[in-house]
Amino acid sequence: MGKQEKPLHTLQQFLPDNTFGHIAPYFKEHNIHLTLTKARKSILGDYREPTRSEPYHRITVNINLNPYNFLITLVHELAHLVTCVEYGRSVKPHGKEWKANFKNMLIPYLGKNFFPNDVETALSKYINNPAASTCTDTELYKALYKYDLDKKPGQTLICHVPVGQHFKTDQGIFVKMKQLRTRSLCKDVGSGKQYYFPGIYEVELLSQ
Ligand SMILES: [Zn+2]
Repeated sequence: MGKQEKPLHTLQQFLPDNTFGHIAPYFKEHNIHLTLTKARKSILGDYREPTRSEPYHRITVNINLNPYNFLITLVHELAHLVTCVEYGRSVKPHGKEWKANFKNMLIPYLGKNFFPNDVETALSKYINNPAASTCTDTELYKALYKYDLDKKPGQTLICHVPVGQHFKTDQGIFVKMKQLRTRSLCKDVGSGKQYYFPGIYEVELLSQ
């Protein structure tokens, strides 16, 4: 067991109210090392199977996730664990076996007011065909983003920027031209060139 091991109940503070009781049994049944990591941009969590030198399941979850995203990410990784125990290496990481486990493991959280309505609605649709990453499901991502606590003032998703509003990204200063179904058409203020951004791209609003 790791040196910095914390009692299981400390996990409660990261989860939505009343959901810990559903999560705890997995930790009692399996030898799991859970590491909470600093914010990572491209991944929310990951799972690694036991090895000879590390004979336990290893799960990481980003510590900055809001409770709803934390729970969904943790269940995503626990579904990898369950799939690994059932099938070993014989199936694809996000194949039909994982999808079925993930869905079955999420169903107990639905219809119990654990999630706000918008997250619940997006999640109910999502579990019928879960993507490898919650970030690629636009509706779920948008719903979860609303509850992120560590946003800076003016930080928002491009799909929520009003047309005509200026905003900033790592690439420069843009003005929003048009909102399409999943993408936003924007103009680079410096070059005058127009670009399409995915609607869930994170930007910073500028005062005009
Ligand atoms: Zn995965």
